[in-house]
Amino acid sequence: MGRIQQIQSFSTLDGPGSRCVIFLQGCPVGCIFCHNPDSWDGQKGMEIPIDELLRRIDRFRPFLPNPGLTISGGEPLAQFEFTMELIRQAKTEGWHVALDTSGWGSPLHFEEAVRGADLVLFSIKHPLEPTRVSQLTVNELEEKLAVLSRATTPVWIRYVLIPSWTDGPEAAEGLKKAISRIPSVEKVEILPYNSLAQEKWKKLGWDSPLFYDDIRTDEAKVAEFERLLGMRSQ
Ligand code: SF4
Repeated sequence: MGRIQQIQSFSTLDGPGSRCVIFLQGCPVGCIFCHNPDSWDGQKGMEIPIDELLRRIDRFRPFLPNPGLTISGGEPLAQFEFTMELIRQAKTEGWHVALDTSGWGSPLHFEEAVRGADLVLFSIKHPLEPTRVSQLTVNELEEKLAVLSRATTPVWIRYVLIPSWTDGPEAAEGLKKAISRIPSVEKVEILPYNSLAQEKWKKLGWDSPLFYDDIRTDEAKVAEFERLLGMRSQ
């Protein structure tokens, strides 16, 4: 049994092509910019056995030219056994399986999950000071980068750009170094922060330091950061 927050039948934002996305319930990572705070509580969501889950997503398969499944959350590694079994069974049924993770938890679990998936969408919260924006420590990040430096599974890096929080030249340099350690990186996605999730946070009665400034990330800021990373020439 796994705890599932929601199933999205169609997405073009969570890996290559068009895919179905399963959002697992439960996340201990505590990002101050989280767009899905409803997923944090591991006791909520629906309990669903894997065979039932696979039956449900099978209905979407005819609408997906190359059946892709992204396991997201929440943090999928917070339900490690369930996630591993889901990866295994979904692959057996012909799905291309992407794992969307922050790398939370044991490095051994992380390594096993990276090996099992067809693609890893790895979110780096901050390359030098992840505790500025999440509960992850720099040691935890280091452990996961060490795993990815040995991995052959393709990796897409995801990074949320928040002015004054994650966008400085030192952060860009740190991110560049982190990425250079992963030989199987195929893509780097710099995602602009927006404040759309504030209402969700407020409904939960939660507060975030990001609520106190008018923080916006526009395309120009993303382009500037990509230039610092060497992803753009001008
Ligand atoms: S890891 Fe993802 S789900 Fe968890 S707090 Fe961060 S952004 Fe939210």
